[in-house]
Amino acid sequence: METITKENIQVEIDETFLIQKKQSVQNRNQSVKERKVLLEKLLTWIKDNHTDIQKAIHADFKKPYAEIDISEIFVVTSEIKHALKHIDSWVKPKKVSTPLPMLGTKSYIHCEPKGTSLIIAPWNYPFNLALGPLVSALAAGCTAIIKPSELTPHTSALLRRLVGETFDKSQVALFEGEIEVAQMLLAKPFDHIFFTGSPAVGKIIMKAAAENLSSVTLELGGKSPAIIDANTDLKDASGKIIWGKFVNCGQTCIAPDYILVHHSVKDDFLKEIKTQIGKMYNSSGKGVVKSKDYARIVNGKHLKRLKNLLADAELKGAQKFYGGNIDETENFFEPTILTDLSEDMEVMQEEIFGPILPVITFDDLEEAINYINLKPKPLSLYVFSKDSNNIKRVIKETSSGGALANDCVIHFLQNELPFGGVNNSGIGKAHGYFGFLAFSNEKSVMHQRVGLTASKPLYPPYGFTSKKIIDSLLKWF
Ligand code: NAD
Repeated sequence: METITKENIQVEIDETFLIQKKQSVQNRNQSVKERKVLLEKLLTWIKDNHTDIQKAIHADFKKPYAEIDISEIFVVTSEIKHALKHIDSWVKPKKVSTPLPMLGTKSYIHCEPKGTSLIIAPWNYPFNLALGPLVSALAAGCTAIIKPSELTPHTSALLRRLVGETFDKSQVALFEGEIEVAQMLLAKPFDHIFFTGSPAVGKIIMKAAAENLSSVTLELGGKSPAIIDANTDLKDASGKIIWGKFVNCGQTCIAPDYILVHHSVKDDFLKEIKTQIGKMYNSSGKGVVKSKDYARIVNGKHLKRLKNLLADAELKGAQKFYGGNIDETENFFEPTILTDLSEDMEVMQEEIFGPILPVITFDDLEEAINYINLKPKPLSLYVFSKDSNNIKRVIKETSSGGALANDCVIHFLQNELPFGGVNNSGIGKAHGYFGFLAFSNEKSVMHQRVGLTASKPLYPPYGFTSKKIIDSLLKWF
């Protein structure tokens, strides 16, 4: 058996890239029907291997099967079905109107495949975030190389099998491996790089992409706040927040990172939060650790990172309102609610990405808005209120990749909306038509008539007539 060396991988990457480069040129003539065949093959494999998918993701961090079905499998299958339904209209040239100075011309936007693409995925939704972008790449007619996360090896191995059994490597290939493999791939002149991960690594990706002027979609993270207004249905809001925060054990890019609650309802809100945790994760009364519906932290390194965040907060005066129990033998971290926080705590500075929920208070909405605006722009912002004016105000006066009123996280499933961040939380958008656009070059095409045209009188030598036309252009258009 051949041993896998860095040199072997490099050779394989070079070969695969070359094959895909050739294929990507041929893909310019790929029909919509051919793209649909690829998407249907993907859908069929997922349906046929449902149990294997569940087992692989569960083996990585004990993610509950129901959560796998909703947030990994359904998300991808619905993305495929959405693309199959709409791809005919997405690829149609979009006519644009002709302004008077362009009289005689016809113009339209033609979405051509960008070409070769690289998809780098994180570990937290290891199936969904590798395949969701692949659906967009295939719908747009791109070839793709996927680099899944090294931290979820069971899912990565399953994805390798999926790709091997479903696609020719000229269309879709996959390279497993550590950061070094990602770096080897990044050295290639891909036409588009779709990266999902942390803002810190996003900067590295963008620098590497700059070398080849590859376009990028960066789906990053950050601290997504949730505002609880004074006039809010607290029972409703806390149930939604507990689900959104603790699904996937808090390891969700759009999980509420911290709560800003109006001081007048803080105590009632905390009471409701406690009730909801009990209902969802401790109905047996034997502790959350016994719940089959609560996932685990992906590995010991991340557990330690979270432990340190908690220790730092407590050292600086934070109070544990709920939780805090940890079992290192199985990477268990209990849902943990913190109060009495201050800005010098790490938990208030970096993305938590785990089941710790800080709760801070505000006196009026302006204070909450100012607080959010002083931090980097979040990926998502949540506002819970019965007052539609307050909701409108928060959405208008803050900037975030997405905003959701009276719920959290579920906007990820709305594939008619663009999904993505802004600045620190990301560049570019994903999902549905917007994912298709990310992998497409919106080529502007204009057809001019032969013979007399509106622009010919403007050719030199510039005389009286051309001056008159230019003057009227400046005056009237
Ligand atoms: P990460 O940035 O550490 O790693 C993501 C991927 O990048 C992995 O495949 C990894 O191998 C690769 N990578 C890591 N370091 C690299 C380097 N130096 N050079 C090249 N490639 C490198 O992220 P993660 O820990 O896997 O995921 C967590 C982060 O992802 C969080 O910040 C979270 O908010 C974010 N995230 C964002 C979204 C979104 O849709 N916006 C979704 C999920 C996660």
